[in-house]
Amino acid sequence: MKYMHEQGSLPIEKIHHIGQPYWYAEGGELTPEEFGVTVARELEAKLDELGAENVAAFVAEPIQGAGGVIVPPSTYWPEIARICKERDILLVADEVICGFGRTGRWFGHQHFGFEPDMAPVAKGLSSGYLPVGGVLVSDRVANVIMQTDFNHGYTYSGHPVCAVAALENLRIIEEEKLVERVRDDIGPYFAKAWHAFTDHDLVGETQAVGLMAGLQMAKDKKTRERFEKPDAIGTWVRNHCVENGLILRATGDRMLASPPLIITEEEVDFMAKTLKNALDAAWREWR
Ligand SMILES: *Cc1c(COP(=O)(O)O)cnc(C)c1O
Repeated sequence: MKYMHEQGSLPIEKIHHIGQPYWYAEGGELTPEEFGVTVARELEAKLDELGAENVAAFVAEPIQGAGGVIVPPSTYWPEIARICKERDILLVADEVICGFGRTGRWFGHQHFGFEPDMAPVAKGLSSGYLPVGGVLVSDRVANVIMQTDFNHGYTYSGHPVCAVAALENLRIIEEEKLVERVRDDIGPYFAKAWHAFTDHDLVGETQAVGLMAGLQMAKDKKTRERFEKPDAIGTWVRNHCVENGLILRATGDRMLASPPLIITEEEVDFMAKTLKNALDAAWREWR
């Protein structure tokens, strides 16, 4: 989120970035699988450049959320996990969006089959009803820190009201089997509706995992050419949806969906119909 960096003295020194596994925009002539490996190996190159002994951890979201719901190619995470393991770099999975059932598993990393050393969590921990977040720490890391003390502190650390809201939320997710519902039932129903947009003239690709989905718009779906002003078309489609009763987010030229885990089939149908109307209208306006 470069626009945030520009506002303060950011990015923080000693945090280095590598490329994102965003095949549609940056994959060029490579297949998604080839691109997944190539972009993961940017981590290896960066570690060579910095010296692995100078690097504490690699941090990423299992699926990029606010950045566009960008689902990495299947080859990406296994390669990242291999590199972190070989170089003894801690792997931190930012589960703030992906966690607590969103992907049809309890955590996003389980969808991809890797084990992080640490995982920041928030949003789904309380389903947003009260503000609460945290960092899950593996034994491997905790055992080292606990040799002295786990020193940290916030004004509202362990706030009992938020903690009880989170516990009750987790109890309900378990009791109502919402994770299983996303994986086996409403998730597949939603994915079918979402992937139906692949055939739309304005749509370059659709991606969905559980109840988390991205829809890439393109000027020319055959060549993957994008619109000159990606923000403008995204905002246009978003506004059309909002005016017709559907709150959908846009990041650049990608439309993002992340409906509640209790969404019904009728509501998914409404969502698909409203988005279709918006995309049809955008195609007439922007082609
Ligand atoms: C919202 C969000 C955050 C910020 O979480 P805070 O609890 O506000 O610190 C971090 N990572 C991701 C992926 C997010 O979506």
